[in-house]
Amino acid sequence: MVTRALDLVLLGPPGAGKGTQAKRLAAAFDLLHISTGDMLREEAAKRSSLGQEANGYMNRGELVPDELVAKMLSKLLHSRTAALGCVYDGYPRTTAQEALLEDLLAELNRRVDVALYIGVRDAEILARITGRRSCPSCGAVYHLATQPPKVDGSCDACSATLVQREDDGEDVVRQRLKVYRKHTAPLLDLYRSRGILREVDGAADPDAVFGRLREAMGSVAK
Ligand code: AMP
Repeated sequence: MVTRALDLVLLGPPGAGKGTQAKRLAAAFDLLHISTGDMLREEAAKRSSLGQEANGYMNRGELVPDELVAKMLSKLLHSRTAALGCVYDGYPRTTAQEALLEDLLAELNRRVDVALYIGVRDAEILARITGRRSCPSCGAVYHLATQPPKVDGSCDACSATLVQREDDGEDVVRQRLKVYRKHTAPLLDLYRSRGILREVDGAADPDAVFGRLREAMGSVAK
């Protein structure tokens, strides 16, 4: 049986829980999780030329120029790991990126099948992001108040010392929210006009939000 690929865009402000939900959706539907933010952070940690170029933009809460992100995405989409479809987390973030994604998918006879929007209010976003800590080694994510690690400051899965992302301080988060509203929020109307936008309330625990997302996907799911 030939299964058609499924391409799913996750939208929402920073801190909406896209990373957590993208991982779960990818596992549930056997899709590749593409997080451009994670990819850029990996490049920055490796100190590659791309990472060094991207780092300043990220630390200021600004968008990394489209062409830098486009190169990474194009390579990944043409890889075999992306053949069954992908969950896009943090991409597209501008209308130009949306157009590029459609072009890249069209080369593979695919298109974005569904755009899932996770809505969360600004006050909750600030509380969520400033309390967020992550494991630099295995990528696990914690929250000081709502999902603390068993041992203070150390990853439950691999015991590495947890860190705060450099762009998770309050001033940078406010800037990221501004950038989100200006450049990324307009994509909601675009996907809505195509009839593929599904909106869920993200103000709940991750299990509940995951249930809402699955329900919102309805008949789109394989
Ligand atoms: P995220 O992990 O998705 O919150 O992304 C963290 C930072 O990486 C953003 O604030 C941007 O500086 C950069 N970034 C991630 N994805 C993109 C993208 N698609 N286009 C431009 N910059 C991005």
